[in-house]
Amino acid sequence: MIRIENVHKSFGKLEVLKDISMEVQQGEVVALIGPSGSGKSTLLRCINCLEMPTDGRIYIGSQDMTSPRTDIMKMRQNIGMVFQHFHLFPNKTVFENITYAPITVKGIPTAEAARKAMELLERVGLTDKKDIYPSKLSGGQKQRVAIARSLAMEPDIMLFDEPTSALDPEMVKEVLEVIKSLAQTKITMMIVTHEMGFAREVADRICFLEDGRLIEEASPQQFFSNPKSERARSFLEKVL
Ligand code: ADP
Ligand code: MG
Repeated sequence: MIRIENVHKSFGKLEVLKDISMEVQQGEVVALIGPSGSGKSTLLRCINCLEMPTDGRIYIGSQDMTSPRTDIMKMRQNIGMVFQHFHLFPNKTVFENITYAPITVKGIPTAEAARKAMELLERVGLTDKKDIYPSKLSGGQKQRVAIARSLAMEPDIMLFDEPTSALDPEMVKEVLEVIKSLAQTKITMMIVTHEMGFAREVADRICFLEDGRLIEEASPQQFFSNPKSERARSFLEKVL
């Protein structure tokens, strides 16, 4: 579903991704883990072309996202992204946040978009917040709306960039539960997270980045109990 081949990314002289290659199969859940500044966000942003790699290729299915002939806007409709800081439309209600893109970008009939929105609100447990504006929601509720909004486009891939890092501790769980329930569907997911317990439980595979390099790829079982690299080991000692 996602194939990253020898990707490099530099900002000026600073090389932040150094020859990253990895694949994610359809339906697989991959957790990206690593110290702050290791390039996790940049890698996710390269996958949906919010950043262009300086070198290398990224394929989504058979489509090369780095090719100038690829219709990036179209490809992006199939890739949902959830950020640390929600990015909801402040002047739209919860319901409008969710139905906006399906109606205006995808051309879904209003009634169908509305039905789908209600189904998604039920799934994230926010049916009663439908007509509320984002400013009236808690952080955990905002993030659940952001997830529902992404899912409304029916993406094959979901990218999460530290979805719980901006939340108060008591709200982390409600968001992780929603993501966990998604992991049981056949959607393909890449999740940047500092929640090690969550990564261990939900991910099929852990990818550990440090200083722009993919240092280690392993099953959660292997990674958390017996990491191969010294760098992963010392990272885990600090965070666990
Ligand atoms: P992480 O998500 O693992 O914390 P990032 O991908 O955000 O790491 O950042 C990796 C490095 O790239 C950092 O040194 C960061 O300062 C730098 N960086 C990220 N985005 C930009 C940008 N738009 N311009 C310049 N430097 C950037
Ligand atoms: Mg980041």
